[in-house]
Amino acid sequence: MNASSTPEIISIDPANGQEVARVRATTLPELDAAVERAWKAFGESGWKSLLPHRRALVLNAIADGLQAEKERLAQLQMRDNGKPIAECRGMVESAIGTFRYYAGVCETLQTDVTPPRGDYVSFTVLEPYGVVAAITPWNSPIMNDATKVAPALAAGNAVLLKPSEDSPLLAPELARIAREAGLPENLLQVVQGRGPDIGAALVAHPGVRMISFTGGTVAGSMIGKVAGERLVPVALELGGKSPHVVFADADREHAVAAVVAGIFGSSGQSCVAGSRLFVQACIYDEVVQAVVERARSLKVDLPDAPGVEVGPLASFHHRERVARFVERARAEGGRVLCGGQAPSGGHYDHGAFYLPTVIDGLGPDAASCQEEAFGPVLVCLPFQDEADLIAQANGTAFGLACGIWTESFKRAWRIGRALEAGSVWVNTYKQSVTSTPFGGFKQSGIGREKGIDGMKLYAQVKSMYFGLHANPLPVAK
Ligand code: NAD
Repeated sequence: MNASSTPEIISIDPANGQEVARVRATTLPELDAAVERAWKAFGESGWKSLLPHRRALVLNAIADGLQAEKERLAQLQMRDNGKPIAECRGMVESAIGTFRYYAGVCETLQTDVTPPRGDYVSFTVLEPYGVVAAITPWNSPIMNDATKVAPALAAGNAVLLKPSEDSPLLAPELARIAREAGLPENLLQVVQGRGPDIGAALVAHPGVRMISFTGGTVAGSMIGKVAGERLVPVALELGGKSPHVVFADADREHAVAAVVAGIFGSSGQSCVAGSRLFVQACIYDEVVQAVVERARSLKVDLPDAPGVEVGPLASFHHRERVARFVERARAEGGRVLCGGQAPSGGHYDHGAFYLPTVIDGLGPDAASCQEEAFGPVLVCLPFQDEADLIAQANGTAFGLACGIWTESFKRAWRIGRALEAGSVWVNTYKQSVTSTPFGGFKQSGIGREKGIDGMKLYAQVKSMYFGLHANPLPVAK
């Protein structure tokens, strides 16, 4: 990258194609300077040695700052990436909750006093890494930013946050609010620009001691490789092709509603979207028919329209990707039962809309049943019995989440344990809270965010021994 190749990042409102704002992309010399400032702040601000309950005060003040600007932030996110306003409000709420949660973790996290094997006392303490990189995708900016920034700061680090070039507007707001809340200058800085340019430079930067990434599997794998070569720890939250399973004994009405919400919420642009529907063969036709009817009835509209259920996709180029995905499914022999195209007329002609799409008739190995669309596209597959289901559902490279609908708790237990997924939802879907670990099996990621482990991701364990013996030579056996 050179300084002039990506001078500006333009945020386009996908609801109408209009420009929202421009931000300057960070140049390589600016990145170097930001890393240097971050280390200086880490070393001199006193943040890392601040007692945790004092750090908690600042994290709570950041939460207060987000709360005070909640509606403005939700509106900005809506224009930045097109999500329905109710979802955007929920994401700001989630960010607020995350800061408050990690303030609580600061207050309560205990480390271990380990069993001695000699005349000494031994215990662990947690140390920050120093400067960490947080790289986030475009689908839920403020929420994903908070999921990384709050625990990284709570653990005493300085953070360089790089939002997606497709949703650049929320990260600078978070950094400003954090500063105004009393976070020392330069402990949270924002780096803007394209992934392969400034993102790659950030990951490779010798001043970055830990990398936390949320995004696609391709970029995640590249980042993992660089981190491996550099021997720096990396946390990867990646994509999914999550199975949503309906057994014959399920509460049919709730299952169908959850299947539809699980894939078409956020227009399918959710890492945990239930994008593969598995229905027991004896009820397959009825359930798929009910899903199609419900999908057809969803209100596809502008993100701030009353009652909107499905907004536009986050960008016009992403809509192109989704449209190509559906064309390939057709070419593979898939039957498009609803959707399969952009709606037209009125405001639809100006925005990046795509209709909720349900496809069946494909085998589990078809590319459309294996790869992530990250859009409003559901593929439906029948299964005969539990063994058949487990083989099919586990038959992708991913393992992020799954949903199981059955009235039998014994079956739910068996299937929940057998499916390769970081989150299992039984008779519910897409519950994801800041207090519960989140992450993927297989190519859906490495590491767990959220919960207490979410803070430990950003800290390294140090073991300390205090000798008690009159003779200070090691006495351990
Ligand atoms: P992406 O991988 O293209 O980009 C994610 C971020 O990484 C962006 O900020 C981008 O600029 C940056 N980036 C891209 N290439 C890079 C590189 N070589 N080096 C450093 N940074 C790089 O993903 P996206 O299109 O923004 O988001 C969609 C993907 O994110 C989907 O696959 C989705 O499943 C995944 N996702 C996962 C989770 C999760 O928690 N598991 C959550 C949300 C989204």
